[in-house]
Amino acid sequence: SAKAEGGAAWRYFTPSMNEAVLQRIERETRLREAIRDDALALHFQPIHGLRDGLPLLGLEALVRWPQPDGGLLPPAAFLPLAEASADLAEALGRWVCGCAARHAHAWRAQHPELVISVNLSARQFDRDGVADRVLQACTAAVPALAGEPQPLRGLEFEITEGAMMRDPQRAQAELQRLRDAGATIAIDDFGTGYSSLAYLKHFPIDRLKIDRGFVRDLDRDADDAAIVLAAVELAHRLGRTAVAEGVERPTQLHALRAMGCDAVQGYGFAAPMPARQVPAYLQGVARGEHRRWLQADQPA
Ligand code: C2E
Ligand code: MG
Ligand code: MG
Ligand code: MG
Repeated sequence: SAKAEGGAAWRYFTPSMNEAVLQRIERETRLREAIRDDALALHFQPIHGLRDGLPLLGLEALVRWPQPDGGLLPPAAFLPLAEASADLAEALGRWVCGCAARHAHAWRAQHPELVISVNLSARQFDRDGVADRVLQACTAAVPALAGEPQPLRGLEFEITEGAMMRDPQRAQAELQRLRDAGATIAIDDFGTGYSSLAYLKHFPIDRLKIDRGFVRDLDRDADDAAIVLAAVELAHRLGRTAVAEGVERPTQLHALRAMGCDAVQGYGFAAPMPARQVPAYLQGVARGEHRRWLQADQPA
């Protein structure tokens, strides 16, 4: 029982708190086991360029936790749990890096232009030596990478503004290490966090991912459109590229293209899909099928 395991401290909990605590511990244990048993899943969401032909540039890896009942827990349901403990956050991050690196290696054999994006949590990024640990996780999962001069080529790491701003100098050095190893860097959810624009100048960042919150109504709200345009122009003037998140409607895509935005990601093209469906998606792109939802809705 809880008392027997936890000792005297348990006596200070009310029965309902006790239950909540136990549930949390049980969930943490199950998550730990899922990571250990390779029982999590990465889904992948396509990112398309806005150039002619809407080329597939890459895919973002998004973690899910399959449940015994066949359901799939989204990250919002268990990332907070993982993030609450340093070793669990580290284990999850390590698993995500390894799994993403394996898929990147497999898909890039035939599609060397594809870039696989990996989210790094603030907690993960906050620990010293994050770049080395990421590199270690990727090369452990794909031993063939170990001898490469740029083992992280074809991987992009997404970090939020908040995570970068906690210790800007350290962040800058860690990001540079990832880039030296061949990776590219994106700021995730750009525009939602606290940041100083001055740091954009110094940080080794390749692209800004404009948060879905600004993209949602950009085709019908002048203020959102102004913010997105400003972000796109900021990115370009600093020599970076801009990606819009959460594109669902052709009218959003047309507006983004008119603004000069470089790439889009969203349910309009595809929702995140299990890794096993990615090869079929790649074949569909080769046949131009990804352009259909756009053409169907265009004025004659
Ligand atoms: P994010 O990195 O900003 O990822 C984009 C989220 O937006 C994903 O939710 C994706 O499914 C969703 N999305 C994409 N297109 C659309 C759209 O057109 N409409 C709408 N309404 N939503 C769209 P998801 O997979 O639930 O992930 C949520 C967040 O969890 C991610 O936001 C990221 O911050 C975090 N996350 C996901 N996977 C990982 C991971 O492997 N590691 C870490 N550290 N964080 C992760
Ligand atoms: Mg992301
Ligand atoms: Mg994002
Ligand atoms: Mg987001």
